[in-house]
Parts: sequence; structure tokens; C-alpha cells
Amino acid sequence: MVALVTGASRGIGRACAVKLAECGYDVAVNYNSNEAKAAEVVAEIEKLGVKAAAFKADTADLKAVQSMFREVQKTFGQLDVLVNNAGVVDDAYLLMINEDSLSKSLDINIKGYFHCAQQAALKMMSKKSGKIINISSVSSVLAVEGQGVYSATKGAVNSMTATLAKELAPRGIQVNAVAPGFIATEMMDAIPEEKKQEYLKAIPMNKFGSAQDVANTVAALCSDAFSYMTGQVIVLDGGLSL
Ligand code: NAP
Repeated sequence: MVALVTGASRGIGRACAVKLAECGYDVAVNYNSNEAKAAEVVAEIEKLGVKAAAFKADTADLKAVQSMFREVQKTFGQLDVLVNNAGVVDDAYLLMINEDSLSKSLDINIKGYFHCAQQAALKMMSKKSGKIINISSVSSVLAVEGQGVYSATKGAVNSMTATLAKELAPRGIQVNAVAPGFIATEMMDAIPEEKKQEYLKAIPMNKFGSAQDVANTVAALCSDAFSYMTGQVIVLDGGLSL
């Protein structure tokens, strides 16, 4: 069994890559710029006794994604799971939104997910099985000031999850999403400490989630326990959105 995790050099993607390796998957580790970190993840996975390799590709760039999937096929010979995880956040209130940042968010968080889903579906359709897990965000269902662009991209991820699930179910491919709340990764570093404390108070479970929490959910979705579920968004937020 082979899994490709995008944005697997750090944070949630890294935890998903390692967890899937623990579950017995050979893992393709995608990254954009951080080659050294991706190499660390590959080394960590190889210690678990499965195969791993790193693939550099900006998921916003269709040609780079096509080339990555060709290389993954050459290296591993098949693809069973895609975790669409590579994403960016650049918070700004409406009147402060800058055109370059807007384009970057739309390109990576939406177009990137379509590019990878398309290439994965091409591989999975021929064998009539596969799983695509999209990493969304609680911001897709909960309004957070300053996250207009980010929440719009994650809302798009939820919509694409439902539509692709319907399109691909007859081809044996399940498509689901995980929408994490606040997860302690580098992505949260940009949030000022005072604001973090405010968010913490709003979480009924009174703690931030970990990348491991997300990885455990992704691994569960890849298991037989969820073999009849498709098109769903699992909100993993310690109760924040309730
Ligand atoms: P992170 O720590 O900032 O890591 C981002 C990862 O994405 C890195 O591996 C980075 O690669 C990669 N990446 C960024 N742009 C890319 C591109 N264009 N092409 C390929 N890879 C790219 O982020 P994270 O917190 O783990 O977040 C991962 C996902 O979870 C995102 O989709 C995010 O929206 C979602 N999420 C996060 C949280 C949270 O609180 N952390 C909450 C909800 C949802 P390089 O290292 O090479 O730059």
C-alpha cells in the first residue's frame, strides 16, 4: 500500500506521513522548499521498515504535480492514498487583503488540492480503489475574523470533498475531509500569545490539538473502519465550533 502526503516536511503532513508508515504504508513525502526537513521525515519513516522517498513539487504548479505523480509511480508502482494537506494561511481583514497573498492562498489551498486529486484519481480509477483525504479547517464552518480568504479556501475544500466523493464513488474511490481546529504547528506561530490564550478559552476541551491527533484521524479514515463513508468532513476541534 502506498500513500502520498502533500506538505509532509513539517506539521500535520509530517505526522500523517509517519502515522501511515506505522500503519504499514510506503510513503511519498511531498514538500515545497524544505528539502532537509523532508529528508528527515524520509529517514524517520525508513526506520519503521517501510519505503519512503521525498518529492519536491509546488502543488499550485500543475506541471510540477504531474511530474511528481509520474515519479511516485516510477518509485512505488501504485497509489492507494492521497492526503491533500499542503496549505498556507495569511490572515488579513478584508480591506488589508493583498492581491499576491490572495492569489497564493487560492492557488495552493484550492488549485493545489484539485491538481493532486486529479492526478491521484487517474491512478486510482484504473484499479477501482483508493482514498483521498483532504485537510480542511474548522475555519470552513466557524467565522474567525481576519480569516476571510483562508476560510473561503477551506469552504471550497469541503465542497470539493462532497462533489468528488459523488463523482468518484462509482470508481471505488472514497473522498473525505478532516477539519482541524487549532493545532500546535508552525502555522500557529504567527498568532500572538494573547490571541492564543483567547482562543484557548473558547475551546471546551481547553487545549490545542496536536498534529498527532489529526494524523490518527487520517489513519482511521484510511482503515476498514470507515470503508462505507464518503463525502464527509470530520471536525476535529476539541469542541470549538459547538
Ligand atoms: P505548516 O506547519 O505551516 O506546514 C506546511 C506544510 O505545507 C509544509 O510541509 C510546507 O512545505 C508545505 N507547503 C506549503 N506550501 C506548499 C506548496 N505550494 N506545495 C507543496 N507543499 C507546500 O502547516 P500545518 O499547520 O501542518 O498545516 C497543514 C494543513 O493543515 C494546511 O492545509 C492547513 O490549512 C491545515 N490546518 C492547520 C491547522 C493548524 O492549526 N495548524 C488548523 C486547521 C487546518 P515546506 O516545508 O517545503 O515549505
